[in-house]
Amino acid sequence: MDISLYVGGESHIAGVSEVLKLSSNENPVGPPPAAQQALAEAASKMHLYPSVDHTPLRAAIGEVHGLDPAQIICGVGSDEVLTFLCQAYAGVGDEVIHTEHGFSMYPILARAAGAVPVCVKESDRCVDVDAILAAVTKKTKLVFLTNPGNPTGTTIPMGEIERLADALPAEVILVIDGAYAEYARGYDDTYDGGAALAGGRANVVMTRTFSKLYGLGGLRVGWGYACKEIIDVLNRVRGPFNLSAPALAAAEAAMKDRDFAARCIADNARLREEMRKELTSLGIACDESDANFVLARFRDEDEAVACEAALRGAGILVRKVKGYGFPEGLRITVGDTAGTERVMAAIRAFVGVDA
Ligand SMILES: *Cc1c(COP(=O)(O)O)cnc(C)c1O
Repeated sequence: MDISLYVGGESHIAGVSEVLKLSSNENPVGPPPAAQQALAEAASKMHLYPSVDHTPLRAAIGEVHGLDPAQIICGVGSDEVLTFLCQAYAGVGDEVIHTEHGFSMYPILARAAGAVPVCVKESDRCVDVDAILAAVTKKTKLVFLTNPGNPTGTTIPMGEIERLADALPAEVILVIDGAYAEYARGYDDTYDGGAALAGGRANVVMTRTFSKLYGLGGLRVGWGYACKEIIDVLNRVRGPFNLSAPALAAAEAAMKDRDFAARCIADNARLREEMRKELTSLGIACDESDANFVLARFRDEDEAVACEAALRGAGILVRKVKGYGFPEGLRITVGDTAGTERVMAAIRAFVGVDA
């Protein structure tokens, strides 16, 4: 009973049919058409048990990302991979480190495994490597890092993550949660989401998801990448049929549709920057974001609550993030062009600026 219930983004407003949902960082375009087709084709084979080892999906991920499929594990969302990590590596008497504004699932999963979550301060909404290192004790088993962060949208550079990995004791596993990695500025260029680090170290794991960029949040598919020894351990606590055949087929098709992913990344980057600039010009603080959302910071909690209510009145759902340490904040998912115009018009109306 010490575990807090996870609170998700809302999806309905009473009496409103045209709700614009910008509260859960979902892909505004919807699922890739290729994934929809693969799902439809899988329907006639639903009587067959799915693959136990996810070979075709791991091969597709490996090919696109240039990774060894033998070092990949697939889960029911990346949440399940994070669950495996806590189940396998953290137990009663152990500590699991997460950061101040990190994902609320980390303390939930740590407690469910019997371990104690340890929350480390961030500095100016960015992960603070030295603060993490100062919190490491003999009991520490796992360190969870969200990069880019949620709900901050900020990123620490690969060099900083490497410094953290170098300084952690060998028996502590560093988990780089890359749910938003593909949206980061410099992705594929200066930032690989932690792939090289996870591939080359015995104690670093990278997790990724199909729920955001790939538009498959409702299907629940994610994956992890680490050395073979860790993958072998995680596979022992994984249920053999954890992923359904339709989900595997749709995720494989989504991964192979590179044009869809590239288009979504480009559109998101453009609209995210438009939102940040306009919010800033309206006097609402907003950091540069490396994800598919922005964190709008108002003068105080009252103003944030009032703006959320005004947006709700306009049929728009955004996320209050008091539980993530930002009572004055609203996390707003970057929508499509029309959705972005709609939410910005509603915010302009809230602050009393006519467009
Ligand atoms: C959305 C999100 C995930 C993805 O979870 P899935 O289980 O893959 O849907 C993971 N970590 C963070 C920080 C997220 O925001």
